[in-house]
Amino acid sequence: MSDKPHQNLAIIGHVDHGKSTLVGRLLFETGSVPEHVIEQHREEAEEKGKGGFEFAYVMDNLAEERERGVTIDIAHQEFDTDQYYFTIVDCPGHRDFVKNMITGASQADNAVLVVAADDGVAPQTREHVFLARTLGINELIIGVNKMDLVDYSEDSYKEVIGEVEDLLNQVRFATDDTTFVPISAFEGDNVAEASENTPWYDGPTLLESLNNLPEAEPPTDAPLRLPIQDVYTISGIGTVPVGRVETGILNTGDNVSFQPSDVGGEVKTVEMHHEEVPKAEPGDNVGFNVRGIGKDDIRRGDVCGPADDPPSVAETFKAQVVVMQHPSVITAGYTPVFHAHTAQVACTIESIDQKIDPSSGEVAEENPDFIKSGDAAVVTVRPQKPLSIEPSGEIPELGSFAIRDMGQTIAAGKVLEVNER
Ligand code: GDP
Repeated sequence: MSDKPHQNLAIIGHVDHGKSTLVGRLLFETGSVPEHVIEQHREEAEEKGKGGFEFAYVMDNLAEERERGVTIDIAHQEFDTDQYYFTIVDCPGHRDFVKNMITGASQADNAVLVVAADDGVAPQTREHVFLARTLGINELIIGVNKMDLVDYSEDSYKEVIGEVEDLLNQVRFATDDTTFVPISAFEGDNVAEASENTPWYDGPTLLESLNNLPEAEPPTDAPLRLPIQDVYTISGIGTVPVGRVETGILNTGDNVSFQPSDVGGEVKTVEMHHEEVPKAEPGDNVGFNVRGIGKDDIRRGDVCGPADDPPSVAETFKAQVVVMQHPSVITAGYTPVFHAHTAQVACTIESIDQKIDPSSGEVAEENPDFIKSGDAAVVTVRPQKPLSIEPSGEIPELGSFAIRDMGQTIAAGKVLEVNER
């Protein structure tokens, strides 16, 4: 770890536009390729009579691993720039990307959108941009990649920028904060150093634009929300719920409430990394002990909050959803499993209230009979068991969910309004 401020970064974009290659390049340029990987390549390079160490060797190896089905895990790779310490969170394409992104395991602050210069905006470019907006990505850096394949042509670059700007306008992603950089992930142009191949470009390199991202503000001012991951019994201490503080601060001595289990008490001790601490902040993984709470009183999926501002429990809630992939159509009465923070609860889509035109955000149809893949809609949802969830306008960290059925994420959404029990 480093003392620099931390950023979670998502790398999004259409398949084959160069996401993995860019991640490899970023790790390589920032000296973050794990030592054993470098060592292995150095040996191989020497065996093949090629001294030195080339980026190509890293990428060759990654490609090979992929063929062997080991899929290089571009998720959870880490690198640092002058300004920040970055963790690359799961990338779309990875099976559980959306679910991970939503359930908080890897909520990204900002994203790099990779668009290949020779292909332009493609179907998954649209899908990911739409998702990024729904899930509250703050800023986008657009790497117009594979510039080497279009002879570093400024016209091709501008054409792609035009397409991407149209897309961002369509989904109402504010374009003031987007940065475009012409790059070649493979050749390294404009990633760490300004390229001589693009004399017409005088903007930042990709690493510079990562450095220029605003610092993520930890949500310390919001009320405490700490979704419970597990509950242990530890001899000498008693019941110890564990989880990650999403918002607010947990202090010893606080009076807390667990919802929807609806029990509470005073926080006796808070532990982090096996050490007792007086308080925990957003992002901290903690175990803690609450006076009078037994192991069977609380469970995974409960949310801990202040007793005087307890987590909301929904009788029903209104949400905006985006259907990503569903083999047929979704109608009222459909009851898939909703994944929100650490909770998994079957919920019935009680009514489909409005279909939304994703390109304008306007209501396209009132009370449609069904929605299908690619549609966005406002729906009313009734959890089949008590579920703690918050309006995303108030506490975004606890306001989004993934809908899973048949082993895959079929939709994602955010809560607009909670009708409390
Ligand atoms: P992903 O599916 O988005 O992760 O794409 P990959 O990183 O796997 O890249 C797909 C293909 O494009 C691979 O064969 C890469 O070698 C190639 N590629 C990626 N970036 C570049 C680039 O900047 N220039 C060229 N010529 N090829 C690239």
